[in-house]
Amino acid sequence: MAGKGESLSKRTTDGFLCHLNELATDGLPTLTYVQPQKLVNTEQYDVIIVGAGFSGLIAARELSLRQRKVLLIEAKDRIGGRTFTAEYDGGKFEIGGTWIHWSQPHVWTEITRYGLSIIESKGVAAEHMSVLLDNGTKLKQITLADNWVTLGKAMEKYSDVDNVQARTVMPLPHAPFTARENVEKYDRLSMQDRFDQVRNALNMTDEIQAMLLALLSMNMQGNIAEGGFVDHLRWWALGDYDMIRMFDKLGRYKIKEGTSTLAQAILNDCQNVKLLLSTSVASVDRTKQDSVIVRLQSGDLILGRTVLVTVPLNVLKNIEFLPALNIKKQDIAAKGQCQGGTKFWAKLDKPIGHWFAMAPYPNPITMAYTDDQDGSVVVGFGPEGLLDMKNIKTVEKELNKFLPTVKVQYVLGHDWRTDPNIMSTWSWYKPGQMSSNLQALQTCEPPVFFASGDIASGWRGFIDGALESGLKSAREIQQYLDKHFTST
Ligand SMILES: Cc1cc2nc3c(=O)[nH]c(=O)nc-3n(C[C@H](O)[C@H](O)[C@H](O)COP(=O)(O)OP(=O)(O)OC[C@H]3O[C@@H](n4cnc5c(N)ncnc54)[C@H](O)[C@@H]3O)c2cc1C
Repeated sequence: MAGKGESLSKRTTDGFLCHLNELATDGLPTLTYVQPQKLVNTEQYDVIIVGAGFSGLIAARELSLRQRKVLLIEAKDRIGGRTFTAEYDGGKFEIGGTWIHWSQPHVWTEITRYGLSIIESKGVAAEHMSVLLDNGTKLKQITLADNWVTLGKAMEKYSDVDNVQARTVMPLPHAPFTARENVEKYDRLSMQDRFDQVRNALNMTDEIQAMLLALLSMNMQGNIAEGGFVDHLRWWALGDYDMIRMFDKLGRYKIKEGTSTLAQAILNDCQNVKLLLSTSVASVDRTKQDSVIVRLQSGDLILGRTVLVTVPLNVLKNIEFLPALNIKKQDIAAKGQCQGGTKFWAKLDKPIGHWFAMAPYPNPITMAYTDDQDGSVVVGFGPEGLLDMKNIKTVEKELNKFLPTVKVQYVLGHDWRTDPNIMSTWSWYKPGQMSSNLQALQTCEPPVFFASGDIASGWRGFIDGALESGLKSAREIQQYLDKHFTST
């Protein structure tokens, strides 16, 4: 099996590390499989999977365990896609997807299956928090617990479109079109539109308004005028229509052993899967009967009975499909979902204990908190590309708005927004995209199938959603192969 036994930390080309008085260096060490395999392109595969993030990996495992001949093709020099755990200075830094929760059914199953555990990001339970007001010029220190409750009430009003906390819009968040008419109605709104509707009724203090706007901008990682309001209602429903519960599910507990350990465990479970790294798919030709021709950027051609495309939505347009995909897929692929923002890790010169901070858009940092026990590691998020993460002095200056005396020793991160194989962080649709495009994106066009965290039904935009979508496609492919071919 490709990858078995490979568990040493190696350097991937993704990510950067920036030390004081030094230029940022590209590439971070991570525990992922990076040994390339040779392509033998005379073989025909039952399934060619494009992309080795969690959706591609879980589909490879499921199909290979059913004796299907699987080829997994990944453009990067590592598996894991939008997740990887960088190992540096004795610590584990999650550069992409990080936090999970026991109420995320697909990811929790894998945690149980591989005997992994979770660890809490400590700053989420801080006693005090720093809030920036007046366009980032005024710093206020407040207690977290009381204000979090008040913020929760403001969030309830913001979300409560029907006097039952949006339950008539998202009664079953894993079946998001249960109330299609209502979804369509609210999908016309941006998050800003909804804020403008309720701004006066919210009757908030400056702090609570700043926190609410910071949290909304943090969730979609940008200007809330561009984010679809229905995606907020989806998170709200997945968070049990409660802000504290929602935040616990989004940003509090991470895999202790690291997301790369989970990705590697799934790969290790695959049977006879061939994995090609640093290999990009250029086109998928399904004009022939009974086989699909996948052309690599190198020009090599590979034959498959089926193809599963798991690339991020914002790079789907880079693959040529013959014949062209369904028009609604083409439409959203051309326009793209929201691109997201920045996420960085900063090591401070001294511990500051448990700490949490928020500032509304367009502050370059909308949310930051300490992650470790003593509070010397901060994770921060910002909208769009407003923070030059690779410039340690800029990161320190922005953190000093909240913590005037701290010094930053080093910064780690990765610019997912401009990564040519990704072009986004987590999924957040623009107004109208969910009701117009999601179902089309999920629909297979046999022998070509689609899976991604960006097109999941439930936890879209999460590791859980990637697993859900990969599992669903693996089932569809298995049924298709059973119907059209016998096992090889
Ligand atoms: C900064 C950040 C923070 C996040 N935080 C969280 C979090 O806390 N919790 C959470 O659950 N989720 C989080 N997410 C989201 C989560 O990481 C993703 O939803 C999930 O990992 C997506 O998995 P995927 O398999 O669908 O796609 P990906 O992981 O993007 O995998 C797709 C793969 O396709 C490859 N590819 C692209 N084009 C080609 C091509 N032409 N040929 C071959 N390969 C190609 C890409 O290189 C990539 O590896 C975060 C994401 C980011 C970026």
